[in-house]
Amino acid sequence: MWTWQAAVADIQHLLLHVLGAPARWAAQPAFADLDGDTAAAVLSEAGRFAAEVIAPLNAPGDQQGCRWSADGVRTPDGFAAAYQAFVAGGWPALAIAPEHGGQGLPQALNAALFEMLAGANHGWTMYPGLLHGACEVVMHHGVSALRERYLAKLVSGEWLGTMALTEPQAGSDLGAVRTRAEPVDGAVPANGVAVRVSGSKIFISGGDQDLTDNIVHLVLCRIAGTGLPDAPAGSKGLSLALVPKFMPDGSRNSVVCDGIEHKLGIHGSATCQLRFDQAQGWLIGEPHRGLAAMFLMMNAARLHVAVQGVGHLDAALQNASAYAAERQQMRAPQRPAGSTAGAGGDPIAWHPATRRTLMTLRARTDACRTLALWTALWLDEAEHHPDASHRAAAAGHVALLTPVAKALFTELGHRSADEALQVFGGYGYVREYGIEQTLRDSRIAMIYEGTNEIQAIDLVQRKLLDDGGARAQALMAVLAEEAARCAAVPDLVEFGQALDAQLAAWRQALAQLQAGRGDDADYPLRVADDMLAGVGHALMAWAWARIALAASNPAQAPVAGRPAADWLASARFGLQWLLPQAQVHWQRVGQRTAALPWLASA
Ligand SMILES: Cc1cc2nc3c(=O)[nH]c(=O)nc-3n(C[C@H](O)[C@H](O)[C@H](O)COP(=O)(O)OP(=O)(O)OC[C@H]3O[C@@H](n4cnc5c(N)ncnc54)[C@H](O)[C@@H]3O)c2cc1C
Repeated sequence: MWTWQAAVADIQHLLLHVLGAPARWAAQPAFADLDGDTAAAVLSEAGRFAAEVIAPLNAPGDQQGCRWSADGVRTPDGFAAAYQAFVAGGWPALAIAPEHGGQGLPQALNAALFEMLAGANHGWTMYPGLLHGACEVVMHHGVSALRERYLAKLVSGEWLGTMALTEPQAGSDLGAVRTRAEPVDGAVPANGVAVRVSGSKIFISGGDQDLTDNIVHLVLCRIAGTGLPDAPAGSKGLSLALVPKFMPDGSRNSVVCDGIEHKLGIHGSATCQLRFDQAQGWLIGEPHRGLAAMFLMMNAARLHVAVQGVGHLDAALQNASAYAAERQQMRAPQRPAGSTAGAGGDPIAWHPATRRTLMTLRARTDACRTLALWTALWLDEAEHHPDASHRAAAAGHVALLTPVAKALFTELGHRSADEALQVFGGYGYVREYGIEQTLRDSRIAMIYEGTNEIQAIDLVQRKLLDDGGARAQALMAVLAEEAARCAAVPDLVEFGQALDAQLAAWRQALAQLQAGRGDDADYPLRVADDMLAGVGHALMAWAWARIALAASNPAQAPVAGRPAADWLASARFGLQWLLPQAQVHWQRVGQRTAALPWLASA
């Protein structure tokens, strides 16, 4: 039986003690009134909601799935009521500024909320998952008439938004988008101008649903029309349009859901084919600058997908450890102190191979969760810190951390679900125990929001090379502070040394890429996935160092949940058993001349 509890105590410990969030919030006027106790209470309530309202719908929602008819999509039983409870609880507006009707809490709390929701039920969480990003787009790019009409309803969650980018011929390559937006009555294209939108979008999450009375589609399109010059080719000619399902006068707009996908996982999430047939809408943001406007939503969405990975990691860990504690097979060579041998055999949790798997999941979850919350803290500072130079530095850190977080956590989330399934043996392969659902659901996170390969290219080209390595050096300087702190604590010297070694490997890899790209433009792309994995391991080394330092400091002791010794053991395991993998990735990045042959059939 699939089991899930909100890891509230762990999240509270990491955010409030290990990462010292309250002190960081105190330096930002927007959060100056937020203390640790209030944040802890918000996290507890979020965990209660996820565990009591959302998690029970996970398996039934998977089995029932969404149903399509020409009248619209029906989500699984219970999804709509749970969404109403989510809205009534004020959760959609958690991290939206009070002047726009939100609660003005930090993104870090929103990231924790969405990690718990995704762990509890990925399919359901897809619906509100894009809401924050949609609000940001309307808030920052909408003209006042659009803001007045749509923002409050999105902030409250009364209406949901979609991100309509993908078309059959335009997946990773958004420059190939063909959907047209024609200004009404030959108007000059400008922000806020009314348009008629025509084209087909596929794979649109929540493109139709029965949770809200209206849906606000944010549609990537190309301006076209008689007498207008052609929009520039490629991604530079893309614009953004807001197209509602229902018009302000209540009439049905000509946006049609022609079907939903039948897919591997997240069966509770409707993945829709949408047809825009001269649908009415308005340009949002400047003409031909649609991708820049959409990036606000895509960046929010990437961090959101990153925390889905953490949610899956945690669900995998919880289920594997619960099963391993119950299932007895053979005698283990050793047993934990104070325990007695089982009647028929020992719990499989005592066998070294299983212990190693469980600790792998534990150490990954701790590291990835720490990094996700840390990224969200920088995101808040990039927006709210009073010092402009600090804001700029924080934005640089977020830019670099986001693609790594998206790709690393989702890969580890899925891989961990697979390793957790192995702990169940044959029972993992059958539906009853639910871990097979976690394996299926977690797979999509590696694909959407820019595949993990596209994240790696973004990291290498835009975030590491295009600025001459400045962002990387700035982030590494922050990471190095932890290594210095570890060096001063006798028990933690190995953490400092390991982190220093990772930073040295990162610097060397960066230099190799900078030196090699001139002669061979293919080279950075060949090794981009390894570069991302190497940087990811360096970041995990930092997280384990940070966790270990907190575990050794009585002033940062956990107030609930796992004792400090448990956190330290997990961090040390990560360092000793998982970090060696980094070497493989750094080594591959260094193989400048390694041939990459063409597959004969390609
Ligand atoms: C369940 C689900 C929900 C989705 N939700 C949404 C949504 O809400 N809104 C939306 O707009 N889209 C959504 N998508 C679409 C999703 O974002 C795309 O599937 C994704 O961007 C990849 O595009 P593609 O499927 O066309 O694959 P392709 O772009 O054809 O890629 C195929 C493979 O080629 C690789 N590849 C492509 N180009 C390169 C390159 N330059 N370098 C290296 N490798 C490359 C990719 O990494 C991938 O492995 C969803 C998809 C699914 C399945």
